[in-house]
Amino acid sequence: MSENTKIEWCDHTFNPFIGCTKVSPGCDHCYAEAMMDTRLHKVVWGTKERARTSAAAWRKPLKWNAAHAEFFAVHGRRQRVFSASLADVFDNAVDPAWRADLFRLITDTPNLDWLLLTKRIGNVGAMLQDVSARLFSPEPMRPDRLPDNVWLGATIVNQDEADRDLPKLLKVPARVRFLSIEPLLGPVTFRWASWVDHDAVSKRDGKVNHLEGLRGIDWVIAGGESGPGARPMHPQWARSLRDQCAAAGVPFLFKQNGEWAPGSGDFGTGRFETAAIAMDGRVVAGGYDASSYPTGAASVDGWAMVHRAGKTAAGRLLDGRTHDEFPHRASQEEP
Ligand code: SF4
Repeated sequence: MSENTKIEWCDHTFNPFIGCTKVSPGCDHCYAEAMMDTRLHKVVWGTKERARTSAAAWRKPLKWNAAHAEFFAVHGRRQRVFSASLADVFDNAVDPAWRADLFRLITDTPNLDWLLLTKRIGNVGAMLQDVSARLFSPEPMRPDRLPDNVWLGATIVNQDEADRDLPKLLKVPARVRFLSIEPLLGPVTFRWASWVDHDAVSKRDGKVNHLEGLRGIDWVIAGGESGPGARPMHPQWARSLRDQCAAAGVPFLFKQNGEWAPGSGDFGTGRFETAAIAMDGRVVAGGYDASSYPTGAASVDGWAMVHRAGKTAAGRLLDGRTHDEFPHRASQEEP
């Protein structure tokens, strides 16, 4: 249950600073950029401009931290804080002193679990060293490990990003590591066999299990895209992630179908815009009927129908049920 945020998997959001630059196809319809245009007008997206949020905003996590016992008594777990929804903590354009201030706040709030989600996972190692060099007092912060109340997440949206970023995520020492695969823009297979350190494996038992890398991840969140211009998600992409997580014993949370729902909806009366989507991501507006696939398509391409139902109506069901798993024990235990 979210108390100060609409995001299903956290209780609070905290933005230490605002502003970012697009670095991935997942940024194409950046929600934060849209907010700048329509509501906040704080920074120009895509420039190096970043705005630090107010001192009052920075005091809120201290209040949440102080309310730990009360929250735990009601919910039986620690509070989760997502940082940042309108920026990227590990963005090169952020003032390193601001990032150090954020980590000081993180270490000053040991009752909170901080979910740091980034599209720049390759920056984390070097930035952690920089933060550590700036935070030598009163308690030094280790340069080689994130504080134990940090859950480190990488956002990926397709196979290319999985291949590039999962090995980097696995290398960062963190108590909890997670993946946010949203918007899911293509099929993703956890091809551990192609990332693995084969020497290390052969010294152990000589076997390479393609799910082994996934076992180093504590949690996977996935969902389709919402908002204006949202791209459809093939339902099979989400099913495949669910099944790979189940096989590896990794908790899986399905956040939403997004703007497009599986199936043809109220196709007959033309109430909804429809489309056909192939397993490789090709989308054909209007879709197909039982006897004709889109031009150039074949049944082996795994076409599925989707319809633009809107985020709320499209809902959170995957094959008729919700998937709301969280990292085993991490929320309940003290780090
Ligand atoms: S990393 Fe996040 S905040 Fe930054 S542009 Fe991409 S979607 Fe927007």
